[in-house]
Amino acid sequence: MSVKDITIIGGGPAGLYAAFYAGMRDLDVRIVETQKTLGGKINFYPEKLVWDVGGIPATTGANLIDQMVEQGRAFNPEVILDQKISRFEKTADSLFASESESGNRFLSKRIIVATGGGIFNPKKLPLQYDVKFEEKNLHYNIYRLNAFKGKKIVIVGGGNTAVDWANNLVEIADEVHLVHRNDKFKAHEFNYRKLIESAVTVHTHSLVSEIIPDQTGSFITSIKIRNDQTDEDTILDLDELVVNIGFDNDLNFHHDPALNFQLKDDYYIEGSAKAQTAVEGVYAIGDILEFDGKVRLIAGAYNDAANAVNQIKQSLDPSADEKAKVSSHNEVFDEKNKEMKERYYL
Ligand SMILES: Cc1cc2nc3c(=O)[nH]c(=O)nc-3n(C[C@H](O)[C@H](O)[C@H](O)COP(=O)(O)OP(=O)(O)OC[C@H]3O[C@@H](n4cnc5c(N)ncnc54)[C@H](O)[C@@H]3O)c2cc1C
Repeated sequence: MSVKDITIIGGGPAGLYAAFYAGMRDLDVRIVETQKTLGGKINFYPEKLVWDVGGIPATTGANLIDQMVEQGRAFNPEVILDQKISRFEKTADSLFASESESGNRFLSKRIIVATGGGIFNPKKLPLQYDVKFEEKNLHYNIYRLNAFKGKKIVIVGGGNTAVDWANNLVEIADEVHLVHRNDKFKAHEFNYRKLIESAVTVHTHSLVSEIIPDQTGSFITSIKIRNDQTDEDTILDLDELVVNIGFDNDLNFHHDPALNFQLKDDYYIEGSAKAQTAVEGVYAIGDILEFDGKVRLIAGAYNDAANAVNQIKQSLDPSADEKAKVSSHNEVFDEKNKEMKERYYL
């Protein structure tokens, strides 16, 4: 395993932008992300329109992820997915060794913690089913609403996301059913009112008791739900089954006493506005960082990332400039600009 200048823990907006900016400063980086995909929390709202990222007019979360990933990979960082960093320590030769839960060890000169809101995994339906349905018509997230156009959809859940999906999908789908275990919806008032007035068929006090596949067992054709007040069973035929019944939050390494981070609200890592934490050589950026004036938005994450990378550059090379040269006049883009000019000027 090669020694990188920086190991970035977390591949959300902050980590991806740090990888890009580090490339601009000729630093060699590795991103380690616990999920199977990059993009961080934006994966919670891929179908939503995001308006407040500077310079980008309204675009969907999914498009934003695509663009962030393209930018984050511009200087070919090493990207390691599906590996949760569970601890890190300083080695005798003043490097940092980050260890993943699966036992891999990554060496680097500095660390950037870009772990954001933490590790969230959607709660799965508490029933036995073939996991391959998750690649067919069982969804724990909605990336593009249009993929559901004209279809018969059953949504399971009673939180704001489930209700919001029902409200959005009913406008384009053939039929939408919402199945919830009780009659208390944890949705914003506005969304709940919209639901009640919509054409969504709501099944309260109902739990999914069976998933029914087609004859070849390759996708789901219907589910059986049971009303726990009447004990009545109902079969709902469907094209797509969408589930949002909450998230499991995995514990992170921030609490490791050996690391000695200063935490706010027992979670956020306190640091300077330039992203330096209480641990020398370790920087925190994005939502995980806490300082007076912190902006917990994508725009704020970019600012932290540039600060952290600039600090690292100077700590590794005291003769380096304080900041990167602006990208519009930076020779590191000479080669890449040839390709881009074809894309934009021709
Ligand atoms: C519903 C919702 C809507 C939002 N809408 C907007 C909006 O419109 N505009 C806006 O600017 N902001 C919005 N935000 C906030 C924005 O998403 C965050 O500010 C941004 O995602 C923070 O980026 P981040 O990289 O710091 O953290 P995250 O996006 O949380 O990414 C952190 C990454 O680190 C990974 N990770 C965590 N721990 C480990 C570990 N131990 N090992 C390896 N990987 C790890 C996680 O899996 C995750 O991928 C919204 C947030 C939510 C929840």
